[in-house]
Amino acid sequence: MKSLQNKIAIVTGGGSGIGRAICLLYASEGAKIVVSDVDEKGGEDSVAQIKAKGGVAIFVKADTSKPEDSRKVVEQAVEKFGGLHIAVNNAGIGGPLSPVGEYPVEGWDKVISINLSGVFYGLRYQIPAILAAGGGSIVNIASILGKVGTKGSAAYVAAKHGVIGLTEASALEYADQKIRINSIGPGYILTPLLTKSLNDTAMKALVGLHPMGRLGTAEEVAELALWLNSDKASFVTGAYYNVDGGYLAQ
Ligand code: NAP
Repeated sequence: MKSLQNKIAIVTGGGSGIGRAICLLYASEGAKIVVSDVDEKGGEDSVAQIKAKGGVAIFVKADTSKPEDSRKVVEQAVEKFGGLHIAVNNAGIGGPLSPVGEYPVEGWDKVISINLSGVFYGLRYQIPAILAAGGGSIVNIASILGKVGTKGSAAYVAAKHGVIGLTEASALEYADQKIRINSIGPGYILTPLLTKSLNDTAMKALVGLHPMGRLGTAEEVAELALWLNSDKASFVTGAYYNVDGGYLAQ
């Protein structure tokens, strides 16, 4: 039997990179997927790829920084598929690169509203639906930069530290109500988030930060997310796991 057979899952930011890899893997393991994203084309492409492989998926356009959009995504899962068991709060942006003393205030607000408040809005509406379904599991995509700092990305670092704290706090509240909530910290992963904004020299510098001597793939992150969202991780909640080629071991 497939590990997510008959489960209903929401993946935010499912139209690209790590989110798309999670959508495809979960669908191949039997889950019905609600792909949500601000990028309509990317989201519809993910749905088409899932369907081409015999999977089941719908796209819901939604901005995680808007609470009403997060509620709409959950409502669609319940209306179209009959409930909700799994959520992956994955959507995120890199934000401006600048020292704190010069950091654009509107850039700070945007990163915090998508990368941190967006995870809260997701949990806020996903949890009641998962409780109604009798339980389930949520994975929040944080980062290695949720555990350590880096220069030039204060808003991202602060938001990702917040995601890990939010995961721990909410996991405690629902540990005895059959909802497990965990976070993942990818190292630098080869996705459009990086390729859109960095040149070759900057990419090579990032490679050098990883003891394995390479960047990770979205599929490697998806495998960890799948394990955490499956019954194989039945005693795991409030945890943070990194998938980072050794970055945090240094
Ligand atoms: P990605 O390829 O850029 O994919 C992110 C997707 O989320 C894009 O389709 C993006 O649309 C969408 N999105 C952006 N803002 C959104 C919003 N407000 N509401 C809904 N969707 C939104 O990025 P990725 O590398 O897969 O990153 C996924 C997650 O992993 C993020 O939380 C990121 O912080 C985390 N992460 C990534 C890395 C890495 O090195 N790649 C490392 C650690 C953690 P647009 O393209 O239109 O913006």
